[in-house]
Amino acid sequence: MVKKFAEALSKYNRVGLVSHVSPDGDAIGSQLALYSWFRNKGIDAALFNDDEVPDNLSWMEHQDRIQVPTQELLDECDAYLLVDGNHPSRFGAMAEYFLETDKPVYLIDHHLDPPKDFFTGMLWDSEASSTAWLVYKLFEVTGPEQIDRKVAEALYCGIVTDTGSFRFDSVTAETHFAIGDIIKRGGIRPSEVFARIYDDKSLAQFKLLGKVLDDIRLYCDDRLAVVRATEQMLAETGCTHNDLEGFVNYPLSISSVLVSVMFYERDDRIKISLRGKSKVDLNQVARKFNGGGHFNAAGSWHDGPMTDAVEMVVAEIGSVLGN
Ligand code: 5GP
Ligand code: MN
Repeated sequence: MVKKFAEALSKYNRVGLVSHVSPDGDAIGSQLALYSWFRNKGIDAALFNDDEVPDNLSWMEHQDRIQVPTQELLDECDAYLLVDGNHPSRFGAMAEYFLETDKPVYLIDHHLDPPKDFFTGMLWDSEASSTAWLVYKLFEVTGPEQIDRKVAEALYCGIVTDTGSFRFDSVTAETHFAIGDIIKRGGIRPSEVFARIYDDKSLAQFKLLGKVLDDIRLYCDDRLAVVRATEQMLAETGCTHNDLEGFVNYPLSISSVLVSVMFYERDDRIKISLRGKSKVDLNQVARKFNGGGHFNAAGSWHDGPMTDAVEMVVAEIGSVLGN
């Protein structure tokens, strides 16, 4: 599967590499490692994202080459590779372009339920811990010696962030073997990469975390935790939505909690982030609200007041948990 995928992608002159809206470490890490993979083959690669690279990833090499896609820029490519999202709709304002183009559109991803028969080719595995792990497989099969420092940092970043620092259910011996190989080949120091990704928080962000966690509510015999971040909390602490990254995971450290949900206001809508401990299929829950994701990490959006969104999601998860 990997070899065929690599061969198919090797026949183009210029490939557009696109990652999803609100990109995370896996999206950016995978995209930048792929950039090197194409460049090593002498293939031009253009990097496209609707949203900015988060501050804690701005140290990554070549991230400054990422541009907001326009029709003209996309027209210059002769194929597209969508990275870390299972459907063109996850890729922002140019979603329609990818849906309608006559040019080949490829996918490399680990989210459940990509549309059947849409993509020209896919490197897809919903059991993969991260898209970056699939990108590692691409390097492993086609030229592991090309894993230099910058590729190793990008792959390490993708895997460490999408596995919650190697703690999620998706982590297997394969994940750790890959990480060992990546560290060795790239000559990287994990503690340094880790610190760049995680130890860059501001005092303001901690004040925001304090407010958000102080508001925590438990439902369903303390098995469901709900945290909320309002525009007011952001304004009071001088933070932005980007500063909320990872907050949803904290309530999972409460022993009784099986599912944690964070709600926050953004662009007059409510963003819903769901995280779990392998007891409730959160992809299914999110799909009820036109979202999606994985079994243990999913998301969606709600048009309407936050109180309605909370009520709706609590009722749905309550019915799954048998409450
Ligand atoms: P997050 O809560 O960090 O935004 O997203 C968690 C997971 O759910 C990610 O894997 C992300 O790709 C997926 N996800 C988040 N929001 C949406 C959405 O609106 N639609 C779909 N299909 N997936 C989402
Ligand atoms: Mn991912």
